Amino acid sequence: MYITCLDVEGVLVPEIWIAFAEASGIPELKKTTRDEPDYDKLMNWRLSVLKEHGLGLKEIQKTIAKIDPLPGAKKFLDELRTFSQVILISDTFTQFATPLMEKLGWPTLFCNTLEVAEDGEITGFRMRCEQSKLTTVKALQSMGFETIASGDSYNDLGMIKASKAGFLFRSTEQIKADNPDIPAYEEYDELLAAIKKAMK
Ligand SMILES: [Mg+2]
Repeated sequence: MYITCLDVEGVLVPEIWIAFAEASGIPELKKTTRDEPDYDKLMNWRLSVLKEHGLGLKEIQKTIAKIDPLPGAKKFLDELRTFSQVILISDTFTQFATPLMEKLGWPTLFCNTLEVAEDGEITGFRMRCEQSKLTTVKALQSMGFETIASGDSYNDLGMIKASKAGFLFRSTEQIKADNPDIPAYEEYDELLAAIKKAMK
């Protein structure tokens, strides 16, 4: 019994904070974990910037609604879901991802949650668990599933390596060079074929 676990940002949709920085005209929001490795600190800073600009959840979702999935992503996901159960696993927040999930046909998404006040102000955030991708894959395996995983980044390596089959997708040259044993693909057709083959 197979289940496919997919990273979201960089695989199906653009990096949400970078796209949001562009769509909202707030360039400082392009700061990522590469600039600030402490995720809690980075998120609290981002929330303070949103507050400064008077952006509550409603305004943010309106801006995120302008962002589109990567070209071909919906078709890929639709096709994949005809022959495999699929769970998207992301470190982003449900409320940010929602407008994008609508455009992807409402796939199952496991991610984190923003704490939102009644007036729409984002007051905080809650991470679901430590190492969410690896933890999820291990939990699925404990339920009798064999997992197939794909992602583009460092935080995907855990679930990729722990799975029956794992693939890098549109990753960096550095990650590909550091992990020569993990097949790496650039096109949805290639990834689809690799997943199909792994299930045989
Ligand atoms: Mg990613």
